[in-house]
Amino acid sequence: GATIGILGSGQLGRMLAQSARRMGYRVHTLSPAADSPTGQIADREVVAAYDDLEAIARFARDVDVVTFEFENIAAESAAVAARHVPVRPKGDVLHLTQNRYREKHALTAAGLPTARYEAVDSLEQLHDAIARLGMPCILKTAGFGYDGKGQARITADSDPADAWQAIGAGAAILEAVVDFEAELSVVAARGPDGAQVDFGLIENRHVDHILDVSIADMPLTPGQTARAREIAATVMREFDVVGVLCIEMFLTRDGELLINELAPRPHNSGHLTIEACASSQFDQQLRAVCGLPLGDTTRHAPTAMANLLGDLWNGGEPDWAAALADPAVNLHLYGKAEARPGRKMGHLTASAASRDEAVRRVTQARSALLRPRNT
Ligand code: ATP
Ligand code: MG
Ligand code: MG
Repeated sequence: GATIGILGSGQLGRMLAQSARRMGYRVHTLSPAADSPTGQIADREVVAAYDDLEAIARFARDVDVVTFEFENIAAESAAVAARHVPVRPKGDVLHLTQNRYREKHALTAAGLPTARYEAVDSLEQLHDAIARLGMPCILKTAGFGYDGKGQARITADSDPADAWQAIGAGAAILEAVVDFEAELSVVAARGPDGAQVDFGLIENRHVDHILDVSIADMPLTPGQTARAREIAATVMREFDVVGVLCIEMFLTRDGELLINELAPRPHNSGHLTIEACASSQFDQQLRAVCGLPLGDTTRHAPTAMANLLGDLWNGGEPDWAAALADPAVNLHLYGKAEARPGRKMGHLTASAASRDEAVRRVTQARSALLRPRNT
């Protein structure tokens, strides 16, 4: 059998490794962490820095294809791996999505809709950009942000210098605040032959800038649904993505769709595809990077997902049995030893007769985790 090489070792790699092993592949993972969520599932866990080019070369020589679950791998590391085996998606896609300005610029150049934005590299530029975009606006570090980290909102009564300091006074992007009605994502997969599939429109609800709940099959108008899927297909084609990529979008109050950001890998909002679909986002990533035919993305039933953050461990181990009292609920835990506040430790899904019912059951199950136990 073939061996899949995964750069990165979090829960996304873990769920990919689970799909890969189920299909008979061997899995190697490389990251700086030992006993990682992915390493626990992999056949081999290589502990090395992402910029250790010799380790990357050795790693690549032992596998048949390299993919990643962590997008901040240096272009040089991807290039070193690519000398030995196919790297999918290719390093160019990584490079593009590692920098918010580069990403938005490429999207705009491809005629795709985003919020209005400006590159900002100094406090002077920030003042000019605010004058052009107006307030409120959001200042974001160009690289390395997730779960809303490295972002500062600027309003009429805040000092731009504070925002500039708060994000670390480095390369940044300023975005106009989108007055959105809802957030959604389209998770798409594309094979080396150009074949493409997507999982439809997934509605995303955030709490404190962190994804909280995702719901499959967001009921937008047929025109909006077609438009969101067309945007996704265009991104996959234009950037020649082989693998899985998620397009996060805003639905504005005017009914328009704007791209928020891209994630060149499976996405938290796509976790519900494990239970909701014949072939999950991780199955599709495996199929796409291995050049296999893509799977069926049809949803079996309305499904919702709720994230489990480390905060739930506040009073000790959550009451898993209470959450699973509803037989429609499935539990996923990522094998992380330390439950820090805001850290993604696992998720729940529920399938039901309707979307509302699925949301009700999954959030009820999550609340039940915290119910005092009668011992
Ligand atoms: P992720 O964990 O999804 O990678 P991130 O740190 O990369 O998050 P973004 O997706 O850019 O950050 O922003 C996080 C959230 O903040 C968005 O999902 C949205 O709710 C809000 N947000 C970001 N940019 C804007 C904007 N221009 N207008 C309005 N809300 C925004
Ligand atoms: Mg992001
Ligand atoms: Mg985001």
